[in-house]
Amino acid sequence: MSAAEDIANEPGRGFDRGTANTVLHIDDVHKSFSGLHALSDVDLDVREGETHAIIGPNGAGKSTLLNVCVGRLKPDRGAVVFDGEVLTGKHPHEINQLGVARVFQTPEVFPELSVLENVMVPALSKRDGHFRLNPFKNFFGEKALRDEAENVLESVGLQAQLTDMASVMSRGDKRRLELAMGLIQHPRLLLLDEPTAGMARHDTNATIDLLKKIKEGGMTKVIIEHDMHVVFSLADRISVLAGGRIIAQGTPDEIKENPKVKEAYLGEEQV
Ligand code: ADP
Ligand code: MG
Repeated sequence: MSAAEDIANEPGRGFDRGTANTVLHIDDVHKSFSGLHALSDVDLDVREGETHAIIGPNGAGKSTLLNVCVGRLKPDRGAVVFDGEVLTGKHPHEINQLGVARVFQTPEVFPELSVLENVMVPALSKRDGHFRLNPFKNFFGEKALRDEAENVLESVGLQAQLTDMASVMSRGDKRRLELAMGLIQHPRLLLLDEPTAGMARHDTNATIDLLKKIKEGGMTKVIIEHDMHVVFSLADRISVLAGGRIIAQGTPDEIKENPKVKEAYLGEEQV
């Protein structure tokens, strides 16, 4: 029995797998780091096709929650269910194979590969179920894959940098590259941790436009974002985390008017 089934079958612990149009269901998740409660009692439903923003002050637990979703961190209690399947206990690559892709807060690209090659890696690993760099094998010779990678890179505005080494890119460009690495997988669910951090306003606006276009294609997204302009431009619904707890959930208009949210942000930026 897998660890995930083990958890799901724990006596007396039947997970509620969410309602019909729920794609991602976070059920009663707790996570502590040596006594610090990074997440407590977190319940959250993400609906098919929506853009769901998770906001909250620094240290609220947003990145921790995303890491629990993608299998990088194991919750102390609770579970994450994607499309009816319990993810908790699965390895990150298994979760990825199920159609969940992520763009991390700190860009994770292959510094010694070109921009084009970086985008081909996740496409290859999705197709083949694994990928290990091997200097004696020409992974990057396939025309159809290269064409697709070029198209995706054009959509994020990196078409002029295909042969650049990822190591020489600016932080903002690395973020766009990581976004392309997520998009080429055609995930059912894309998780983005501050996708516009480190970008100039012009690039932020271009990213907002791109994410709006992706939304028209029906992809479900969870976006952690500090920039309220980005949040209010993109989100269908918003969940607010503070001190590891969800303190409010609702539409952007509801969240703007919520006194608990205003209080959580006192001393931070204006909501
Ligand atoms: P956010 O993304 O909302 O800024 P994080 O999820 O990164 O917040 O962090 C939530 C809390 O958990 C913070 O107090 C942070 O210091 C702590 N934390 C996060 N990751 C770890 C870790 N690996 N070890 C110890 N503490 C951590
Ligand atoms: Mg974070």
